[in-house]
Amino acid sequence: MTNKYDVIVVGAGSMGMAAGYYLAEQGKKTLLIDAFDPPHENGSHSGDTRLIRHACGEGYAYVPLALRAQELWHALQAKTNERIFTQTGVLTFGPATSGFVQTAIEGGQKYGLNIETLTADDVNARWPGITMPQGEIGCYEPEAGVLFSSACIRTLKRLALSVGAELKVNSPVMDIEIFDDSVKVHTPDDTFEANKLIISGGAWNKKLLNELNININIQPSRQTIAWFDSDDILYKSDGFPGFFADVPSGVYYGFPSIDGTGLKIGRYDNGDDIDPSYYNKTFGAYEKDEKDIRGFLSNYMQAAHGNINVGKTCMFTNTPDENFIIDTHPDYNHVAIAAGFSGHGYKFSSAVGEALGELIIHGETTQDISPFKITRDSLQPENKDEVYFKARGK
Ligand SMILES: Cc1cc2nc3c(=O)[nH]c(=O)nc-3n(C[C@H](O)[C@H](O)[C@H](O)COP(=O)(O)OP(=O)(O)OC[C@H]3O[C@@H](n4cnc5c(N)ncnc54)[C@H](O)[C@@H]3O)c2cc1C
Repeated sequence: MTNKYDVIVVGAGSMGMAAGYYLAEQGKKTLLIDAFDPPHENGSHSGDTRLIRHACGEGYAYVPLALRAQELWHALQAKTNERIFTQTGVLTFGPATSGFVQTAIEGGQKYGLNIETLTADDVNARWPGITMPQGEIGCYEPEAGVLFSSACIRTLKRLALSVGAELKVNSPVMDIEIFDDSVKVHTPDDTFEANKLIISGGAWNKKLLNELNININIQPSRQTIAWFDSDDILYKSDGFPGFFADVPSGVYYGFPSIDGTGLKIGRYDNGDDIDPSYYNKTFGAYEKDEKDIRGFLSNYMQAAHGNINVGKTCMFTNTPDENFIIDTHPDYNHVAIAAGFSGHGYKFSSAVGEALGELIIHGETTQDISPFKITRDSLQPENKDEVYFKARGK
């Protein structure tokens, strides 16, 4: 059976579900297809919460996108009773020499964000749950906070369906055919036809794109997160911020204890490359799963160093230069691609979804996505060690 749509979105996770909603809201006949039933535990959006930082240590180019995303999250919050966002503030910290912390501060200043630069004494006095050594500094953003990622995707799904989008779940896309002005998408049970296509397959993008003659090494990695039994007086979300730490032992991120779940923490820079369909999803399967994050807590947050309440695994997906791809296919402007959202993509998903919708319908978007072109040199294998933005002091 062949059904004809304006747009098919392959991968209805973080980026795809948002794109589907914004397209359907504009009256586009939209079909979302996912291999699972989003939100789910098999991709990159599981684990309930995601930090939204506006002063991004990953590079200045991310700041305007984060601000647009935050506007859209606030607008989404106004449309639902689900909890989408809570403004906990976020503290980015590390040695004063950290390129990540410096980029966060400079980006914040460049875009006039409400940020405070804090010394170790300031931080230790303000949040007694943190023990920061002398010589480290913090960049505090009071307007940043925590997104409830599963609730966001659930809300986007509900709204998308309410304005006419269709969603096929548990339907892995097996094959895509691209013609001059249309596409055909095959699942095990159906074939669907559309004028335009968005590919947002997260950790599976490398495989999907390889089949469309794009050979960029978009590599998934196994990541772990855990919720620690912690002192709620020190770490609960009405006083303790989200945090991102670029410190000598590694890069870590974490969340205050929300609703008594305990402080949540993960490591940002130490995942092992994996195949997204076959990897060990059991937290604790490897010694470093717990050891890495406990080491950080014992140095910086001793009163959050209790038993682990819950541990989970998830996937980051990195391009060779660790920056996103948001662009059309080099050979087909009716095919848009969203890939390589690494360990900090979730916060942008509302803005990325909006941009994908504009790009595929109008051929351009009001947001500056020029740094995320698929044809940039730093994605090519011979340039893989180049860093595209000024970021990362490592
Ligand atoms: C542990 C962890 C912590 C993180 N913390 C943060 C954070 O604090 N802040 C932040 O901003 N970001 C964070 N991130 C990163 C963020 O979650 C990801 O960048 C983002 O979720 C990626 O979105 P995506 O749409 O690319 O992937 P996904 O959300 O995984 O969506 C991809 C979808 O494509 C579907 N799919 C794949 N192949 C097919 C196919 N063949 N057919 C049909 N469907 C298919 C999948 O089922 C999936 O639903 C974190 C990630 C992890 C793993």
